[in-house]
Amino acid sequence: MKAIRVNKFGGPEVLQLEDVPDLTAGPGQVVVEVRAIGVNPVDTYIRAGLHAVKPQLPYTPGSDAAGVVESIGEQVKRVNRGDSVYVAGTVSGAYAQQCVCNEWQVHRLPPHVTYEQGAALGIPYATAYRALFQKGQGKAGETVLVHGATGGVGTAAVQLARAAGLTVIGTGGTEKGRKNVAQQGAHHALDHYAADYTDQIVELTDGAGVNVILEMLANVNLAKDLGLLAKFGRVVVIGNRGKIEIDPRAAMTRDLSILGMTLFNTSDEDRASIHAALVAGLENGTLKPVVGKEMPLAEAAHAHEAVLEPGAFGKIVLIP
Ligand code: NAP
Repeated sequence: MKAIRVNKFGGPEVLQLEDVPDLTAGPGQVVVEVRAIGVNPVDTYIRAGLHAVKPQLPYTPGSDAAGVVESIGEQVKRVNRGDSVYVAGTVSGAYAQQCVCNEWQVHRLPPHVTYEQGAALGIPYATAYRALFQKGQGKAGETVLVHGATGGVGTAAVQLARAAGLTVIGTGGTEKGRKNVAQQGAHHALDHYAADYTDQIVELTDGAGVNVILEMLANVNLAKDLGLLAKFGRVVVIGNRGKIEIDPRAAMTRDLSILGMTLFNTSDEDRASIHAALVAGLENGTLKPVVGKEMPLAEAAHAHEAVLEPGAFGKIVLIP
């Protein structure tokens, strides 16, 4: 089979399409014939050797995919050969025609959900769910600011929050992106490059501020966020690419919580709960992943450049 292999850490050019042996499932594992692969920003940090997670070289990148169960190992009970599944984490790497997963890393894909959509679920939807509910404690009746709502995590957060009865304010950097943010269920879609967008948020909440912020670029926004939160508000730092100066007094005087999160730290119990909720949301139609761009697997290097460019629109997916 064909797989993208990384033989040394470096720029996108280190992603090479190679022929590798077919995979087999060990006990408690499944082999998935991959139909679509989700490209996440974290894949680029790991490839560059800049992430805390440093796989042993050579390796096949990627954690998210969707496809058909090709074979199952001993003791596997939850899925059978021929089942359509989405993959949230793998043993062997997702950028390939096949991947090996532990049984708990695959989840049933309802028939009306495409493989391309399935590839958009793993990291983005699990992150959005964990940030909004498990960390941010978002509740019906509250207002959430999805600060960076146009990309993979943001789109998921908007759909999850809207379905759960929150008032949703989402931001995006392009007209096309903001239009989609509104279509995905945001009550208000604002431009995070506009000089007055924070004033608009204050106005939209009648001066009260928002209860939860899901922050995609904390090094740019965290100081502003502290000024936008209501008393007892929570900001969840999901994305960050640098340093920022904040005034902790803002957090002190209004009992604000600044919460960090990394999906890798999720406990088994919380992870199972997240995917039970995501499968239910797919089944009842409230969760509909948006695929913005499809590219052949051979163009993985190009996808790694695209996922870091501004002007996000849903998910970038590779087709093997
Ligand atoms: P993505 O699809 O590339 O989307 C990036 C988002 O950031 C877009 O909505 C983009 O909006 C927005 N953005 C750009 N400039 C912004 C600004 N000044 N203010 C607010 N938002 C801004 O990436 P993703 O998959 O959604 O991931 C988002 C971030 O979270 C990445 O940094 C990723 O590494 C991180 N992440 C962390 C975890 C974790 O476990 N902590 C998990 C998943 C992702 P425009 O392009 O429209 O300007």
